[in-house]
Amino acid sequence: MKRFEGDDRGYLEWVNSNPTGFVLNCNRSPDPNYIMLHRATCWTITGAPTRGEHWTVDYIKVCSQDRMELETWAQKKVGGDVRSCSFCLGAMRRSDSVDSLFEMTFDSAIPERDKFLSRVFGIFSEEIVRAWCRNPRSSYNDLGRPTLYPLGGGHYTLDFTFRSRQTGQLYVGELKCELEFQGYRYLRLVAVDQLNHLNKRAFRAFLRFARDQGSYNLKVAGKPKSAAGCILVWGSVDPKGAEAVKATTGIHDVLSLEQMIEDLVEWRDQAYLELVRARARWCEELFTALEMASPPHST
Ligand SMILES: [Zn+2]
Repeated sequence: MKRFEGDDRGYLEWVNSNPTGFVLNCNRSPDPNYIMLHRATCWTITGAPTRGEHWTVDYIKVCSQDRMELETWAQKKVGGDVRSCSFCLGAMRRSDSVDSLFEMTFDSAIPERDKFLSRVFGIFSEEIVRAWCRNPRSSYNDLGRPTLYPLGGGHYTLDFTFRSRQTGQLYVGELKCELEFQGYRYLRLVAVDQLNHLNKRAFRAFLRFARDQGSYNLKVAGKPKSAAGCILVWGSVDPKGAEAVKATTGIHDVLSLEQMIEDLVEWRDQAYLELVRARARWCEELFTALEMASPPHST
């Protein structure tokens, strides 16, 4: 265990060389009401300080590879329990009903960060839906991208062809996951009028197909299919919002991507965990490359 007071350089060296370690953030004279536990990689306690100019002047940092050691220190030396940072340790807590996973992850005090992370997430959010569909415990499997052919020509390719594991019926599926967009107005589906800004022709076709499956010919992987309606996947879904959307639009079911993630974590779905870990590793590789000195031959 190491304690850093007035030693930003030593502290930053420690977190850089102990990425799997833990850090307690406390007041200069530790107060049992404020002992915050972070992972050493947490963005709120590394890099350039957001508040004040130093990491270890107004606050001190107590660091260890061993989380238990820090929790014991807090109880014995400060007389309080540690609180877990919601950014680096709290995101997967299921008991936390006030903030949803997405709200905790994408709605921080730093808009630039939230926009960045929302975009990164958007690159692979469809893959998460597919991973959920591949798990036999989910309610639908996915047959691939469906294409709707209007009777007058043209076509619209959508995201998923959901097949109910219970009934075998097919549904055309579309994912809409806008997180920080326009001040989080679309993060959680609470009312049917949130669909109004989705005025692209493919989404219009999706809504029309939800009401009238005879209005388009459907093909999946080049083969004609018939479907019983549409399923919308949204980032985070309020149950009342889902009911309102179903009643007003004729959409058969509204699924939440946030709930799919909770399911996959609860089911310990290995393919999902590998998908997430690979992307974490790729980001790490990119940002490590950006911080590295130029290769020797170029100097
Ligand atoms: Zn943290």
